[in-house]
Amino acid sequence: MSTVSESTRPRAVDEFLSRVHPLFIGGEWVQAASGEVIDVVDPASGAIVAKVQAADATDVDRAVSAARTAFEGPWRRLAPIDRMRAMLRLADAVEAASDEIALLETLDNGMPLTAAARAVRIAVENLRYFAGWCGKIAGDLHNLTMADTFAYTVKQPIGVVAAITPWNFPFVMEVAKISQALAAGCTVVLKPAELTPLSALKLAELTAAADLPPGVLNVLPGLGAVAGQALVDHDGVDKISFTGSTATGKNIIRSSAGNLKRLTLELGGKSPTFVFPDADMQKAVPGAAMAAFANSGQVCVAGSRLFVHRKVFDQVVEGVGAVADSLRVGPGLDPDSQLGPLVSQTQLDRVSRYIELGREEGAEVIRGGDRVGGEGYFLRPTVVADARPEMRVMREEIFGPVVCAVPFDDDDLEQVAALGNDTTYGLAAYVWTRDVSRVHRLAELIHAGTVQVNGGAPLEPAMPFGGFRQSGWGREYGEAGVDAYLETKSVIVRL
Ligand code: NAP
Ligand code: MG
Repeated sequence: MSTVSESTRPRAVDEFLSRVHPLFIGGEWVQAASGEVIDVVDPASGAIVAKVQAADATDVDRAVSAARTAFEGPWRRLAPIDRMRAMLRLADAVEAASDEIALLETLDNGMPLTAAARAVRIAVENLRYFAGWCGKIAGDLHNLTMADTFAYTVKQPIGVVAAITPWNFPFVMEVAKISQALAAGCTVVLKPAELTPLSALKLAELTAAADLPPGVLNVLPGLGAVAGQALVDHDGVDKISFTGSTATGKNIIRSSAGNLKRLTLELGGKSPTFVFPDADMQKAVPGAAMAAFANSGQVCVAGSRLFVHRKVFDQVVEGVGAVADSLRVGPGLDPDSQLGPLVSQTQLDRVSRYIELGREEGAEVIRGGDRVGGEGYFLRPTVVADARPEMRVMREEIFGPVVCAVPFDDDDLEQVAALGNDTTYGLAAYVWTRDVSRVHRLAELIHAGTVQVNGGAPLEPAMPFGGFRQSGWGREYGEAGVDAYLETKSVIVRL
């Protein structure tokens, strides 16, 4: 495979990039009321590659009303099997356009093309997995304390959902939210991150091929403070499904109180990796490294705090450092690149500032820490040794390819877990050991929504995913994910 360049990329992609994209409302392409336009930047070069219109409160109003009409009209009345068919058609359309979507995602977010292609495959799987839930949503029959009654629960879609998403894995996260909402019978207004709107617009285009009823999915690129805030404030929105920073999540909680919107919040993290001396080091070392460095560390579940038993500390930290050195950092369109750039100059500055802060706090940066090349937002994967729990680099989410290593001596699992639990977050944790009892004890003690042992898959559509503590509210994926888009009604009949 050779590097995809402007001269070799598919004409469809060029054509897509050359348009100034309007908003997608009620199945139609609509000019934004304000006429504002967002420049879409390729983080590998800093060049503007596309332009999209930005929604404001007027557009949000139109989109919410289109989503309401679709919800009351065709969508909730559609037989579950037909809802499933519509979702499967959308999955087919996405699959058929995978190459184009992956290319747009790489140009927009910067991730290596192979990673973008994988993300699109996962998105297709999500659509198909959740399509399967359409006909399987059911209430329960209950035995009551009273005689002569017959009682049951029914599950009903919540209504109009606003999905607000970040830029780190745009397409797969957007499709996951949409899949769960549609399976439940809700309709969606999606606001992608301002930095990465392209793949969402492509998805909007594909709804026509999938013959999705108009208004079931609306796509409104725009600024968080404008379009995002208008959705959060809107009385016609019944639920917000948000993925992003904890700070924005807290603001959404406050702003959504007006009509008591249902909320699912997937927020930040500062997840621990634990490596014990009995671990299979051939797997634990690259596993720990990639838990921190994958997607250039711009991952909510990044294993950014590395706790290693002192017996193997030097060996593991050296090994992780060697992986950091070996990773090829470069443009996502270059097939040799293993890590792409950070998403923006702002993010590069922010992460670089944290590395500096670590030094000022007395930690030693033993690998990386420096920018790669003069153009684009590339940063070498970075290993910080001698970190201490109270340092800001150990407490705050950096969201870049930076891992902070800390040794532990203890064999008492309560103490080891306490190290990992010393955080306001609780999204994920990684454990490397061959001791089965230790696995299950530690899994119980760790305060996190997901515990991955010896490389267990990070995100799996069938498994609930979400955060303890300030990593969020509620769960996505699996049955719990669909249930988050449903209300439960109790019906009690006196016979
Ligand atoms: P962010 O600033 O919170 O943005 C997320 C989304 O919210 C974007 O679409 C953003 O729009 C929008 N937004 C901003 N202000 C808003 C407001 N007042 N009302 C409504 N929406 C608003 O986060 P980010 O910088 O894009 O992403 C990085 C953060 O997301 C990290 O902290 C990371 O941990 C977290 N994250 C969490 C998960 C998870 O599953 N738990 C996954 C990925 C990322 P703009 O694009 O215009 O800012
Ligand atoms: Mg971009």
